[in-house]
Amino acid sequence: MPLEAPLAPVIERVADLNARYKHHSATAVLEHALADPMVGSIAMVSSFGAESVALLHMLSVMDRSTPVLFLDTEMLFEETLIYQREVADKLGLHNVRVIRPDRDQMFARDNSGNLHRSDPDACCVLRKTEPLQKALDGFDGWITGRKRFQGKNRTTLEFFEDEDGKRIKVNPLVHWTPQDVSDYITNNRLPRHPLVAGGYPSIGCAPCTSRVAPGEDARAGRWRGAEKEECGIHFVNGKMVRGNETEVSDANVVVSDDGFGGDDWTGGFAPLSEPQTADVGLDLPSDTMPENLSGQLDDVTLIRVDFPSFADGRGFTIARQLRLMGYKGRLRARGHVIADQYAMARRSGFDEVEISADLAARQPQDQWRARANWQTHDYQSRLRGVI
Ligand code: SF4
Repeated sequence: MPLEAPLAPVIERVADLNARYKHHSATAVLEHALADPMVGSIAMVSSFGAESVALLHMLSVMDRSTPVLFLDTEMLFEETLIYQREVADKLGLHNVRVIRPDRDQMFARDNSGNLHRSDPDACCVLRKTEPLQKALDGFDGWITGRKRFQGKNRTTLEFFEDEDGKRIKVNPLVHWTPQDVSDYITNNRLPRHPLVAGGYPSIGCAPCTSRVAPGEDARAGRWRGAEKEECGIHFVNGKMVRGNETEVSDANVVVSDDGFGGDDWTGGFAPLSEPQTADVGLDLPSDTMPENLSGQLDDVTLIRVDFPSFADGRGFTIARQLRLMGYKGRLRARGHVIADQYAMARRSGFDEVEISADLAARQPQDQWRARANWQTHDYQSRLRGVI
């Protein structure tokens, strides 16, 4: 509910709200947050992650028109993007706003899509904190799904929080346990995120989320190996220590017509700026203009084309153009690609796709092979049609 007149400072309203609703249930807190003029205009921010559907369901029962902000960092699992649409449809949430990072800022600060490896804090600021803060402009408060059980930084959370004097954050589920969430989802027959069954109890961006072993903390798979614990959405000045590089890029799997296998290429890779030989693979960034490479690729045996994000399709265009220019060597897609993109990659002219071992482990081979079926429209047929 919009504020009709300037009210007391956020810190005072938060203290008042916490005192008033201290003994209320999650549903009561959410209901009051949506209606209490002391909170003001409000949106829910949801990752559509492992547990999000519980709070989204509560919201759908109370007011389906409430704005729901979904942050697509362009690094999310494909499963999350599909799940987001399915849940919104099922619950009738008709005001979901998909928030994405600023194009110009992405170009300037993370054009290669590898910032998460070298500086995950800066990556989270660019892809999460900044776009979300911009999206929240004009709102007096926002609803989150955070809970005390989720970790050290959250153990003292209250229902209402002061966000640096700017806005009120509402955490209706703060006292819920994992069992409460699970029971709610089961009792209301809500769809679960497909990755939960695969060992992902907490789901964020694909490069920074790994499977959790039995007995591990639910958030152990987030930024594994780094000391980083929060993305910066909630703790701008919180614990944001740069972590080690992920191991994902060190243990990659090559997807080819033969299935998933190790990398048979032992020659290493070099950038375009170095002399090209048959023994060394060529690494091409996503902003390459293939037409500028005419006559330079005759000796190159293997070219790897980088995909800086899952939503960035420039690599497919590069492959098509290279084939149209007559390149006959091996073409490999690498970076933020998944096995499900194999068919598209093949149709575009790639021979293979390089994916992380972690992604390979959760992708049953029979599934991608059944879905791929690229042979009926391989790139040569397609190019003949185009030409
Ligand atoms: S979670 Fe990882 S990929 Fe996502 S914004 Fe943060 S550092 Fe970047």
